[in-house]
Amino acid sequence: MSVSAHAPTEGVPPVDVVPLGGLGEFGLNMMAISCGETTIVIDAGAMFPELDLPGVDLIVPDLAYLEDRKGQLKALVLTHAHEDHIGGVPYVLPHLNGALYGTSLTLGIVANKLEEHSLEPNIIEIKPGSVISVGPFTLEFVRVTHSMPDCVAVVIRTPQGVLLHTGDFKVDQTPLDGEAFDLHRFAQLGSEGVLAMFCDSTNIDRRGYTGSEAEVEDAFEEIFTSTEGKIIVATFASSLYRLQIIVDLAAQFDRKVAFVGRGMIENSQIAQRLGFLHLPTGVAIKDSDVPIFPAQDVVCLATGSQGEANAALSRIAIDDHRHVELKEGDRVVLSARAIPGNEKAIGRVMNHIARRGVDVITESNKHVHVSGHGSEEELKLVLSLVRPKYFVPVHGEYRQLAQHARVAKFVTRGLPTPVEVLTAENGDVLRFDVAGGRKHGKAPVGRVLIDGTRVGEVDDEVLRDRRHIASDGLVVPVVAINAQSGKIEGVPELVARGFVSDDGTADILAEGGRVVATTIAEASVEERGDPGLMKERIRVELRRFLKKRTGRRPMVLPVVMEV
Ligand SMILES: [Zn+2]
Ligand SMILES: [Zn+2]
Repeated sequence: MSVSAHAPTEGVPPVDVVPLGGLGEFGLNMMAISCGETTIVIDAGAMFPELDLPGVDLIVPDLAYLEDRKGQLKALVLTHAHEDHIGGVPYVLPHLNGALYGTSLTLGIVANKLEEHSLEPNIIEIKPGSVISVGPFTLEFVRVTHSMPDCVAVVIRTPQGVLLHTGDFKVDQTPLDGEAFDLHRFAQLGSEGVLAMFCDSTNIDRRGYTGSEAEVEDAFEEIFTSTEGKIIVATFASSLYRLQIIVDLAAQFDRKVAFVGRGMIENSQIAQRLGFLHLPTGVAIKDSDVPIFPAQDVVCLATGSQGEANAALSRIAIDDHRHVELKEGDRVVLSARAIPGNEKAIGRVMNHIARRGVDVITESNKHVHVSGHGSEEELKLVLSLVRPKYFVPVHGEYRQLAQHARVAKFVTRGLPTPVEVLTAENGDVLRFDVAGGRKHGKAPVGRVLIDGTRVGEVDDEVLRDRRHIASDGLVVPVVAINAQSGKIEGVPELVARGFVSDDGTADILAEGGRVVATTIAEASVEERGDPGLMKERIRVELRRFLKKRTGRRPMVLPVVMEV
C-alpha cells in the first residue's frame, strides 16, 4: 500500500468528515464532508418512530451543522433508495446550493418525495463509473450489491487523500440482474492508497457470508406449490429483487400478481418504467380485481411487513381492506426482517391473521428472507482489498461499530501498517490533515421529529390537517385504558390549543369526550387490542364530530395510555 502517493500536502485546508446520523443507531444515515468553503452530504436518511411517540410520523437528523454552513452545501449524494438513506432528502434540500446526485432508480424513487414536498432541485443522474467534480472534491461511483438494484459506493478524492464510503452492501455473487459488485475497482483503489474507508457495519455480528438474493427462490417455489388459496407476501416495496422473484414464480405457476398498498403500487410502477422490474404480459392485475379471481390464481405483494397500522397487511389482517380478504387456505408470508422496535406491532398483525385461520410464514420457519447487508466474511473481504490507512465503521448501533473495529484490527494485524480505527459517533468531527486523521471536537447533532408528513402510508387526511392546523388548532383526546379489562377509565378528557374559544367551547369539548367514550365502546375487539387502530378510529370520529359542531377541522392527536 502506498498511502504516500496521497500524503496530505501542507497549505491545503483540512478535510472534516462529520457523521450527522446512523452511527450508534439504525436509520438516519447521513454524513457531511467539508473542505474549505465546500460541504457535501452523503445520504439523508430517516427513521420511523416506535409506537410510543404519538403523532410523530418521521424522525430525521438535526441539520444545525448545515445551517451553520449556509450556501456551502454543494452536493447531496445518494448511495441508494432505502428510506434510511433518502427519507430525509426533502428536509436537506432547502439547505442545498448545488445538485442532488443519484442513480436512475434512486432518483426515480426520490421523485415522489420531491413532488409531495413541491421541491424542484437541480438533479444529476450518475452511473457506476461516473466521475464528477464538486469544489475541491472529485467523486466517483462504484457499483455494489444490496437488497435492491442500482446501489453505489462513493469514492471522494480530497486534497488530503482518498475517502471511500461503501454505502449499504453485501457481496452478492449471483445478482439477479447480473450487475456484479465491482470488487475489481475496490482492489484498484486499495493499491492506489485509500486514506479512510467508511464501511457498513449492520451485520458485522453475523458470521460467514450473507448469501445471495436468489437464495429465497426455493422457499417461495415450495410455497407456490403447496398453497391452496391466495398467497400474500408482505415485503418492503423497495425490495425489487424479491418482487421480481415472486413475479417470475407467479408467471410460472399461472397466478396473477396484485400490488397492494400505496408504496407497493408506486414503487412497482417506477421500477417497471425504469427497467428494474419486469412483468410478463398479462400477469399483473389491479388490487381491486383480486376478488374477481379464484383465490388459487392470485398472489398479492403487499406493504406492511413491519406491522405499520395503516399499511395493507394490517388492514387485511383485521378484514378492513377494500379488496383483499383472508380466507382459510390462504397464506401470508412475511418476507422481511423485523426492524428492531417493530416486533410488537408485527406480532399483533400475525395474531390477527392467525385468528382468521391463515398460516403465517416468516424467516424463522422458511428461508423467505435474506439480509441485504454483508456478514463478517464479506466485510473482511472488502477491508482486505481496500486496506485503508484509517477505518471508520458506520451504520450500526455502538456494539456493531465496536465489533467492526475489532475485526478491522484483526484483519490488518499482519500488515506493515495495520489499519488505524476511528470509532466515531454522531457529531464527532473527524479531521484529516497533514497531522493525520483524528477526532477533532464535536458538531451539533440530534433528531427532529416530523409529524404528519410520513411518506408512503399515512392517509391523506393527516396531510390535510397539517395545512389546517394553523387556522383550526389542535385537539388532544387523552384516553386511559385499563390494561386488564381493556375498558376506559372515566370519561376521556379533551385538551385544546388554538381551537375556537368562546362560551360554548367547554361544552363542545365535554361532549367530544363522550363521543370518544362511545367510539371506544363501539369498537371491534381487534381495534381495541391495537392502539394504532384505536387511535385512528378516535381521530376519525372526533374530527367528524368537531366539524359538525363547529365547522372547524382542528388537528386531532389521540393519546391512548394503558393504566
Ligand atoms: Zn440499504
Ligand atoms: Zn441502510
